[in-house]
Amino acid sequence: MDAIANRCIFCKIVQKIIPNAIVYENNKFLVFMDKYPINYGHSLLVPKQHYNTILDMPTELVGEMYALVPKLAKAIITVIDSDGFNINQNNGKSANQIVPHVHVHIVPRYSKEKIKGQWPSRQIAKIEELRQLASKISENLISENV
Ligand SMILES: [Zn+2]
Repeated sequence: MDAIANRCIFCKIVQKIIPNAIVYENNKFLVFMDKYPINYGHSLLVPKQHYNTILDMPTELVGEMYALVPKLAKAIITVIDSDGFNINQNNGKSANQIVPHVHVHIVPRYSKEKIKGQWPSRQIAKIEELRQLASKISENLISENV
């Protein structure tokens, strides 16, 4: 592990040093449940290799990353029966990027929400609940042949 990966929480999740609820992975990307979800089903898509921001990534890899988003979002909103979703991808501290390893937020939304489209305060979720949900979404992805 290099120096950056040593300090980066998402690199540690990619390397399975820190346990998480994994939804999907291939040789380049990992999808897991956000431990501080702003909504039920909030998931994160990350490149396995460390890049601080999207500007550091090869353009083709950015394309491959975003190509996964519709399939993932479809599986997530199907499993939890939400009405829609937001895609957020923050770059830099001024843009509210908390973990400096590129990540795409997929945030399910519900028509009954009071604060639509905003980023409410977050609460930590129980890992076992996240794992059960990750497993359901993962099964949905398999049935859709992702
Ligand atoms: Zn990293």
